[in-house]
Amino acid sequence: MSYTLIDGKKVADIIRQQIHEDVQEWIARGNRPPRLQAVLIGNDPASKTYVQAKTKACKEVGIESNTAVIPDTISIKELKETISVYNKDDSIDGILLQLPLPAHLHPSKVIETMDFRKDVDGFHPMNVGRLAVGQPTFRSCTPAGILELFRYYSITTKGKNAVVVGASNIVGSPMAIMLSRENESGKATTTLCHKYTRDLTQHIIQADILIVAVGSPNLITGPMVKEGVVVIDVGINRVSDGSAPKGYKITGDCHFESVAEKASLITPVPGGVGPMTVAMLMKNTLLAAKKSIYPEEYL
Ligand code: NAD
Repeated sequence: MSYTLIDGKKVADIIRQQIHEDVQEWIARGNRPPRLQAVLIGNDPASKTYVQAKTKACKEVGIESNTAVIPDTISIKELKETISVYNKDDSIDGILLQLPLPAHLHPSKVIETMDFRKDVDGFHPMNVGRLAVGQPTFRSCTPAGILELFRYYSITTKGKNAVVVGASNIVGSPMAIMLSRENESGKATTTLCHKYTRDLTQHIIQADILIVAVGSPNLITGPMVKEGVVVIDVGINRVSDGSAPKGYKITGDCHFESVAEKASLITPVPGGVGPMTVAMLMKNTLLAAKKSIYPEEYL
């Protein structure tokens, strides 16, 4: 079967261009530029790269940003205090807490400290809860970006069998909520698999739409999937490769060649989901500045 490669970079560029125009219009109406406060804790090189990519993207669309680089010795009390300063600062619209956090800082406890009206990652329980009951909310950026890809490529979800592999709070779980809601972008019969799932293939083989967010290279191979499946590979894995200039290459969770052979559409890694995640963060930051999700009178 010949497949269509889902070009996340192209779609993200279109969305970012639209956000750029919306930001210009927002400023032309007499408002200050939207502003994102990023919080980077410790020296994890991947986290540093992600924050740099996000703040660079902000600049390109006209969103101001600032990054607080905090040593990983910070206590949870000090971190909560730092976040409450950002909560109270009216010049900050969105707060980005780059995950993962060092082991002694429990992410849920820190995220709960954040003003949910500035939670542009959509991780605060208030926003997750509103997602679950179908109210307007900051939607987690990666699954929201995947729905934008569906929209661009006219991939319908209504009545389809969707299988999500990986049940994290940031990708798999909100993805399954979005797909299973009986609204415009949902209506799929949704199965959520995780490391305790017995016989993964038995579920995956039923999928019309397969979303994999595990962090395990080559977890999904061609014989596991149905002919014509739409495959969204969220995984980002560094796999050592002596022929690559950096000594490693980035791969997803699917064995691309064998899965693509049976797929109707498939995302590459890199260049699939990743750019969409960044674009959705920009979108949420603009929504936060406009107070579109939580208007002034809220609370
Ligand atoms: P996580 O580590 O928080 O969770 C992994 C999930 O996979 C868990 O639910 C676990 O139960 C499940 N799992 C582990 N082994 C499994 C197995 N053998 N079979 C089935 N399920 C299994 O992961 P995360 O933070 O959601 O990230 C997952 C991957 O997605 C990582 O590679 C990460 O780098 C990538 N990611 C990419 C983007 C992007 O924008 N492209 C964004 C976020 C995460």
